[in-house]
Amino acid sequence: MTPPPRRAVDAAFLPRGLYRPTTNACLLGLGVWLLCLLGIYSRPLGDLALFWPANAFLLGMLVRYPHFAHRSSWLAAALGYVLADAMASSPLEQSLLINAGNLVSVAVGYLVFRQITPSMHRLQTPASVLYILLALLCTAFTAGLFGMYAGPDLLGDSPLRGFAMWCGTELATGVAVLPMLLALPEWRRPHRQCLQLRPARLLPAFTLLLSVGLGIAVGGPGAIAFPVPALMWCAVSYNLFSTTVLSFGVSVWSLVGLAMALQTGTPEMVDRELLLSVRLGLALMMLAPIMVASVMVTNRALAQRLRLLADQDPLTQLPNRRAFLEAARQTMPSLRKQQASCAVLMMDIDHFKSVNDGYGHATGDAVLAQFGQLLRAHLREQDLLGRMGGEEFAILLPHTGAQEAATAAQRLRGQFAALHIPVPGHAVPLRCTVSIGLAVDPHSSTALDELLAQADRALYRAKRQGRNVVQLFTPSGLKVLPPP
Ligand code: GH3
Ligand code: MG
Ligand code: MG
Repeated sequence: MTPPPRRAVDAAFLPRGLYRPTTNACLLGLGVWLLCLLGIYSRPLGDLALFWPANAFLLGMLVRYPHFAHRSSWLAAALGYVLADAMASSPLEQSLLINAGNLVSVAVGYLVFRQITPSMHRLQTPASVLYILLALLCTAFTAGLFGMYAGPDLLGDSPLRGFAMWCGTELATGVAVLPMLLALPEWRRPHRQCLQLRPARLLPAFTLLLSVGLGIAVGGPGAIAFPVPALMWCAVSYNLFSTTVLSFGVSVWSLVGLAMALQTGTPEMVDRELLLSVRLGLALMMLAPIMVASVMVTNRALAQRLRLLADQDPLTQLPNRRAFLEAARQTMPSLRKQQASCAVLMMDIDHFKSVNDGYGHATGDAVLAQFGQLLRAHLREQDLLGRMGGEEFAILLPHTGAQEAATAAQRLRGQFAALHIPVPGHAVPLRCTVSIGLAVDPHSSTALDELLAQADRALYRAKRQGRNVVQLFTPSGLKVLPPP
């Protein structure tokens, strides 16, 4: 199988040294070997494994990290399967048959995944769970065909039972393990804010724990459905990966509970049909919270896009008037409380109408975009910036006194005046200037609207002074600031 081209997102996950096919193959082989041992040693009933995560792990890794899909990875995985069986002293012929079944069923799932678009792989759309279920059904069906052949020999079952048991195990484990691997986030250093857990954020997870506990206390087959409402709450509260981890936890817990219940009876007493039905029911039920989490991914992306459209000016990519005023109104009370100084700058590009008239509207747009870029590049993270409309911009500088604000304003004015803007079809680059009105409040006690009005008055005066100047508003009158 030829590996699909490596994608940039995968490159972000592991350090460079780990991309070599041999290293990848060793990692996969090791993972398969360990998970096979886990599956083998957790068999409660003779040869029937209730939890067989090795196949879903192999499939998930190959799909999530396409650069793992190399010939050597398949070989290493095969070795991992056979070695684990050898350690469990399984007869070689039996081991080869079972592991051929494992590998072929994973290969079938992998081929189905290759027909599905990558956004579906990553559970980023509501329909992706259905596609993943389809891939898992194909994997499980193939495993079932091998079980049909191997079942009578290994478990003394009829071919139909062999099919059902292999198929059921594959599906139940796949649904628990695969979504978690596919939703694995790219590695990023956690933001400090992410590390600050508020107790209210833990409420859905805590409720999930309670509902699992309630299931144990009440008992019976219905108890496996007890955690579903809490899982749904987790799905709408947490991100996709966290939801898949919690669903995985609940699935494993239920399967372990089932295995422990079986340990108390002899294999002959176990109603295998009931067992299969419970496991399949559990597997399919766990798809519901994952689907809700996928829908939430789409919803959050949509909400973020809408917020951006509502708050951002598309030309300069700066906050628009509404977003600027909202952010400034949120900032002012804390400045007032701290009695900190703040400054407001109102800026208006000079003779902009003649730029449009002389060079065309597209050039006017380019000037606005350049000015926006210049503002963004020269301000601090805490400064608030907005396009108030047309060729008018505003800035709120928190914790800034008159001297500092005047220096910043003069720097912006000077840098814009020094800018050479190339215009297609014109040999000489275009040069523009900006007039700036500045209002400063040493204790942030003035209302925002009043500060903006003061800066506006200063701007008006700057225009009358001949433009390309910074004018400071002071309670005793207006003052032109000389260039530094
Ligand atoms: P002043 O120095 O007094 O500010 O003169 P001005 O020509 O800059 O001011 P005026 O208010 O007369 O003209 C502003 C112009 O800005 C008019 C309007 O067509 C233009 N304008 C507003 N928004 C945009 C835009 O998004 N793109 C372009 N290209 N022009 C815009
Ligand atoms: Mg104007
Ligand atoms: Mg203007």
